[in-house]
Amino acid sequence: MTKSTADLTVDACPLCGCRSSIEVGSIPYAWIWAELERQLGLTTPAELRRRFTPAPEAELFACSTCGLEFFSPHNQGDAAFYAFLTSAKAGYYTNRRWEYSVAEKLLHDGDSLLDIGCGDGAFLKQVAGRVGRAVGVDQNPEGIRDLAEAGIEARCTDLAVFAAENAAGFNVVCAFQLLEHLPRVNAFAEAARRCVAPGGLLLVSVPNNDRPRLNPLDPLDCPPHHVSRWRPAQLREFARTFQFDLVDVVCERRRPRSLPGLLRSLGRRTSAHRRRGAVTSADALDGRSEPRAPSRRPTLSTRHLRNLMLGHTMILVARRPA
Ligand SMILES: [Zn+2]
Repeated sequence: MTKSTADLTVDACPLCGCRSSIEVGSIPYAWIWAELERQLGLTTPAELRRRFTPAPEAELFACSTCGLEFFSPHNQGDAAFYAFLTSAKAGYYTNRRWEYSVAEKLLHDGDSLLDIGCGDGAFLKQVAGRVGRAVGVDQNPEGIRDLAEAGIEARCTDLAVFAAENAAGFNVVCAFQLLEHLPRVNAFAEAARRCVAPGGLLLVSVPNNDRPRLNPLDPLDCPPHHVSRWRPAQLREFARTFQFDLVDVVCERRRPRSLPGLLRSLGRRTSAHRRRGAVTSADALDGRSEPRAPSRRPTLSTRHLRNLMLGHTMILVARRPA
């Protein structure tokens, strides 16, 4: 089914606000919850599940203007949903991310660094000793408490309020794995831009939607966790829209030695999903997650092969004009 957001029941694009888009897939919420519970080893509280199941299916749209893929309704998780996720034994936060090492190489002695959506402050703890000032902002009071106990400046506050008090206060501002959670990115972008000193850097990482998916039905890439899916073109569009100079979009790459294992896993996953009529192997490589009729002869395009070595994440490096 193709649906256009000219019908106002579909949410606007989180990046550009455009109201024209095409439906590119849908995932039953029952699948999302079942897979989430299986992965986390948890049972979702009934009240939480009811509140974050706004329709039988999460419908995925592609914006006609900027190409961003987003779910409608946006259905963004709240503090209670994240408390549920972080209660999993496996742990929601991770101490090491690929983009931390990319960002760390861009830091200089004496830099003033702001991490927006810092979580439990893993990146700040990693680099605090080598910059002049390191500050974290988050709306999760537990993470902020952890950071304060580690002796790192941290604020649990509304970002717009913080930005008004700290205009041009930092020469590096970063936000890791945040944009894909936001129903509208403009409030974040404007506050982040306000915090960056002229000539300073903004570093923004998101999952790369071009990557091959080992699990095309990854529930953590669906609402209420993620509301949008980004490719490099949308990070470049982000820089342009919010008046940053684009320095680079760097994509994580898989190690060549991981290729045989990746192909075996994709084969296993896609044959299992094909039996369920969920996705084709080409979909798995393409990152498409919509249920669809099985394809008898999945074909691999050159784009699939080019994307085969992409890792999970990419990072925008942009500069506020001096
Ligand atoms: Zn858009």
